[in-house]
Amino acid sequence: MKLSFLGAAQQVTGSMYMITLEDGYKILVDCGMDYELKRNPVERAQLFPFEPVTVDLVLLTHAHIDHSGNLPALVQHGFKGKILCTAATAELTEYLLYDSANIQFHDYRKALSQSKKTRRDLIPKPLFSEKNVTQTVEQFVTVQLSKPFKVNQNISITFIEAGHLLGAASIEICVKENEKETRIGFSGDLGRKNSKLIKNGEHFNSVDYLITESTYGGRKHTVTKEAEDELLYYVQRTCVDLRGKLVIPAFSVGRTQAIVFTLNQLKKKGLIPAELKVFVDSPLAIKSTPVYERHAYLLNEEAHTFMKEHGSLFNFEGLEYLEDMKEHDELMNYFEPAVIISAAGMVEGGRIQEHVSNNIENMNSTILIAGFCAEGTLGYRLLLGQPTIRIKNKDRNVYAKIARTDIFSSHPDHDEIMDYIATTDNNRKSTHKGEGLKKIFLIHGEPVQLNAMKKALAEVHITHVEIPEMGSEYIL
Ligand SMILES: [Zn+2]
Repeated sequence: MKLSFLGAAQQVTGSMYMITLEDGYKILVDCGMDYELKRNPVERAQLFPFEPVTVDLVLLTHAHIDHSGNLPALVQHGFKGKILCTAATAELTEYLLYDSANIQFHDYRKALSQSKKTRRDLIPKPLFSEKNVTQTVEQFVTVQLSKPFKVNQNISITFIEAGHLLGAASIEICVKENEKETRIGFSGDLGRKNSKLIKNGEHFNSVDYLITESTYGGRKHTVTKEAEDELLYYVQRTCVDLRGKLVIPAFSVGRTQAIVFTLNQLKKKGLIPAELKVFVDSPLAIKSTPVYERHAYLLNEEAHTFMKEHGSLFNFEGLEYLEDMKEHDELMNYFEPAVIISAAGMVEGGRIQEHVSNNIENMNSTILIAGFCAEGTLGYRLLLGQPTIRIKNKDRNVYAKIARTDIFSSHPDHDEIMDYIATTDNNRKSTHKGEGLKKIFLIHGEPVQLNAMKKALAEVHITHVEIPEMGSEYIL
């Protein structure tokens, strides 16, 4: 069989991999939006280096758009097969894809209205419509974690907990070909141990090949405190001592729920003032938060213990979810101390940019960046620490404190990925007379991160390591 790397190879976004069996059967793993392509509209026409109609089966690791965001385009261009994922992933992906279609439509309309007539043909059209999302959702087939799903006599698929996001899975594909059995493990995006809400990820028992994310290769998360202590520090310092606003840019799915739950814990312990207002300004967070409650069986023990004692994880006195623009506009004129959580994490998107813009010249406010910020995003520029910053075509003085925390990171750091690979290697050794993984493919990272991982693995004598290029193919 052949394994092809069609996305997130030597970069982070656009996850997409293909397994082609000898009889021509094609399995696509993830079909994510490639943000680098998004910035280079000329290449948008070539989203797929294959005919979507020839794909037999799609496996989706999790809902994040850089893993799921091109599914509607795949369906629009002729893919008719099943898309296997967990039930929580199916629900979250549906919300995220409709949101993505909506954003693309509005961006396109806005760009049209702002451009000269003669240049309108150059504006990239939306990659897909809401109608394509509806079709895509109809092709979802949900699977349970840790229960093998038999596709046919020769192919069996097992999803296991990845610990990254609600419903996120690592996927094992077991193929029988020429009387030989081959097991391939795709890590998908992994999580950290003991993260908020989500259970710890599991390891593959005995795969022959491992394709693993390496987002934070060579980097260590600087986490010295518990999430509660970290958040308490910022709330106390900003909202209580300085009576300012704590603005937290956060993705609507995953990060927002972790932060709201942590604030809930602090409120219930009486560590932050009962009257302190917390605003979640994100319509997508309103839709996706109940998915966490519907799939509470996926949550960790800490969350279950809290639910038994206090009921809801995501509701407490002083917390308000804002849906429409009227409420958003009212918040822009709210002058009391408050915590504002708004999307998205890299400080891209309208609502969060307005909150940052509104508070950046207030020396009593803090902008707390709680996740990875890609180069070129407003979050990245804020972290450069410059005295002025351009937001929405206006130069602003930076008087607010700009802080960052890794405490809510949903990816493992270097040491944690090393542990993950070493454990997977050892698991195979224990079932294959001391023989470890046949090959390890490092993906979902920039070249610096991938090379750091490869070097560190060589130091512990794990040497069958590849850093595949985009478009490269391997015969397994
Ligand atoms: Zn992810």
